[in-house]
Amino acid sequence: MPDKSSLLSLTTAIDAMAPQFTALSDQIWDFAELKFDEHQSSALIIGMLEQNGFSVLKGVANMETAFIGEFGSGKPVIAFLGEFDALAGMSQVAGADAPQPLTADGTGHGCGHNLLGAGSLLAAISLAKHMEAESLPGTIRYYGCPGEEGGSGKTFMVRAGAFDNVDAALTWHPAPFNGVRSTNNLAVLESYYRFKGVAAHAANSAHLGRSALDAVELMNVGVNFLREHMPQDCRVHYAITDAGGRAANVVQAKAEVLYLIRAPEMAQALTLAERVGKVAQGAATMTETEVEAIFDTASTNLLPNLTLENAIHDNMVALGPVPFDADDIAFAKKIQATFTDEAVKSSIRLYQIKSDVFSNDRIDGSTALHLGLRAFEGQSHFRAGSTDVGDVSRVTPTAQCWAPAWAIGTNPHTWQVVAQGRSPAAHKAMVHAAKVLAATGLDLATSEELRFQARTEWEEKMDGQPYVCPIPMDVKPGQH
Ligand SMILES: [Zn+2]
Repeated sequence: MPDKSSLLSLTTAIDAMAPQFTALSDQIWDFAELKFDEHQSSALIIGMLEQNGFSVLKGVANMETAFIGEFGSGKPVIAFLGEFDALAGMSQVAGADAPQPLTADGTGHGCGHNLLGAGSLLAAISLAKHMEAESLPGTIRYYGCPGEEGGSGKTFMVRAGAFDNVDAALTWHPAPFNGVRSTNNLAVLESYYRFKGVAAHAANSAHLGRSALDAVELMNVGVNFLREHMPQDCRVHYAITDAGGRAANVVQAKAEVLYLIRAPEMAQALTLAERVGKVAQGAATMTETEVEAIFDTASTNLLPNLTLENAIHDNMVALGPVPFDADDIAFAKKIQATFTDEAVKSSIRLYQIKSDVFSNDRIDGSTALHLGLRAFEGQSHFRAGSTDVGDVSRVTPTAQCWAPAWAIGTNPHTWQVVAQGRSPAAHKAMVHAAKVLAATGLDLATSEELRFQARTEWEEKMDGQPYVCPIPMDVKPGQH
């Protein structure tokens, strides 16, 4: 934890800069650009970095919207990760407490990445300025990471060696709670299965047709039977990305399905993907069609770093609760009223936010916003999601925290997230996260002992196994 005067000067500077960064977050919310198309969002962040004396490397890993901003020089190198991509079909009016698209079929920030990108940026810029003023050695980097949503932008950046000389990486995510939650999540592999058949009139010459759509349906049935025989905690989901057309009186000559295959370890995901591939071949055999598997993307499961997570938690304790007011709570209550009681209770259970560092207040279904700090138990839990932060955590010690931008009960990828994405409460949570990250970054920059401990834990957990990028070298970002 930084000493009191350093922490105060850092947080005072962050509060002074905050309005510019909440405005930037709101602009990114407005742009709501999809994976690998974040041209306006990345230009905005690059502009802010350059204005603040960062040099910026653009087009990292052959992605137009990936970039690295750098300030200072030499070791240590501290990285802050930023995301800024939105989701399709998530358009929603800000501040509304009912589903109300801003534009029909429009995009929206359904995961709060506008806040994530701007908050990490505020942390990086404020820490860089602080280190310059204090003549502290070291390099601060902001990683502009595109395509988190189904694009694994960071995995491509890791594959290109962009994190090779980083001493530690920090990030955060908007959430319905405040605190550190150490998680072991799932590795994920994403592939399209494209079937090719023979078109025919579906009544008078159906016997000449070979249906690619039948093949997709049979593959899905086969995989649904496979579920019983998968290792526990694996997850497989699919979406039919091409049903072959809208004419029921034509035998569909082409059809395509996207599969996400998740498992606790990448090796298990690869084995499961092979079995799913056999089911696809089986469906092709049954229907006399052909199938082609098109690898899309992948992310490795996270390697939690308890040393860094403890350092983050200590700073969260020192910084106190997020300064929400009565209006923030009133709006959160309106959002919370759109969830069932069970959903709210399930969220409290999922994030284990019942215990609290600052007060003995019981957090139950009537708590709308997390006003305290989740106790950190110093151990990792299972979480059934995936993130490309996982690949960063495989090449450098990495940790993240969560800040309470959303009403308790809110789940990512919902209209409620978009509705809360530019609220005063979300802004406060974002500024709070920036303070936590900047303070932890300062710890890392000034404590060789912390860096050593984080690295030692990382090396023990990697156990001498070299990181292997799950995305083959010939796969390009967002190539589908
Ligand atoms: Zn997200």
